[in-house]
Amino acid sequence: MEAGGDQSVRCSLARAGRIVVKVGSGVLVDAEQRLDTDRIGQLVKSMARLLAEGRQLVLVTSGAVAAGAPVMGLTGSAKTIPQLQACAAVGQNLLMSVYERLFSRLGRHTGQILLTRDDMNNRERYLNSRNALETLLASGILPVVNENDTVAVNEIKFGDNDHLSAQVAVLVQADLLLILSTVGGFYEQNHEGALEDGRLVPTVERITDWHFHHTRDTSDSASINRGGMRSKLLAIRKAADSGIPSLLVSGLDDGILETVLEGREVGTLFLPFKERLSARKHWILHSLQPQGRLVVDRGAARALTHKGKSLLSIGITAVEGKFHSGNPVRVMGPDGREIARGLSYYSSREVEAIRGRRSEEIRARLGYSYYDEVIHRDNLVLVK
Ligand code: GLU
Repeated sequence: MEAGGDQSVRCSLARAGRIVVKVGSGVLVDAEQRLDTDRIGQLVKSMARLLAEGRQLVLVTSGAVAAGAPVMGLTGSAKTIPQLQACAAVGQNLLMSVYERLFSRLGRHTGQILLTRDDMNNRERYLNSRNALETLLASGILPVVNENDTVAVNEIKFGDNDHLSAQVAVLVQADLLLILSTVGGFYEQNHEGALEDGRLVPTVERITDWHFHHTRDTSDSASINRGGMRSKLLAIRKAADSGIPSLLVSGLDDGILETVLEGREVGTLFLPFKERLSARKHWILHSLQPQGRLVVDRGAARALTHKGKSLLSIGITAVEGKFHSGNPVRVMGPDGREIARGLSYYSSREVEAIRGRRSEEIRARLGYSYYDEVIHRDNLVLVK
């Protein structure tokens, strides 16, 4: 399962021209949970050095809530959603002013991009965000990305910056997603705060259930860190599906960016998947929020997973949730496991009327028949 240190990929990291650097809140704050401008200054210097070498960087930064909490008098305490949003409103400002001040001293400028999951759900906004990022990169400006925490409610939230950073890496087709965290890599029996009990895994060829089983995250509503190891693994898998390698390293180590880009063995390297998804299928699988579920019988499940077929009404046994024509849905096998995701040609009401029926019967049941399939193969992605 583990490749035990894939030196050739490590060396190729040294040539990575476009890198998404994700910095977690824990790296950006000091023991009092205030923005640690010394550490941020070190990171900025390293990033400026990489920019001077001609590399393109996108910085995905957390720390807005952490920076805003002291101003709001809410350091260390559990926060309600409106309080988190208010902290983010205050803190995002402070965070950006720190980055801009530090980068401009080194002759560089920053541009702020705040995203929500909704921006990725909508193809037009997705492409617009990409254009904005590309334009900033082409102009030599460093895009600084965070989640738009003040407006994002649960339904439209990435939830943590791990997912956001993977999404941004896919958006700009980065050569590397570099995650700087207080956890310096993937450990067997990983337990945040008690890292001694595990062995650092240097290279992960493919993330499997085994890795999720070796993850024990703690969650704490007062914490400024939202993503644990589980969310990192999910995010890294999203990048891997798009052919992008990820490296998880300690953001607390001095000169970590330089160490990584010299190809030295630090942290955990996650290799990209060989069968890379097309941009459209990646978007269906990783950007869209499924609106409902279609449960299928054994024959249909096999036709999808082994024969490359489309999903027909005859194989659908149940419809869950409400969705419109064109919406993304999960396709569940008879054992309750998700096997695919796709865009349904028919709404939940229509599928309810035609499920278990042959395609030729669609017209008789609905009074019209736009498509023979419920999900065409071109709009369907298998979930591995
Ligand atoms: N967007 C949040 C912030 O800036 C951080 C989320 C995360 O740490 O994953 O505070």
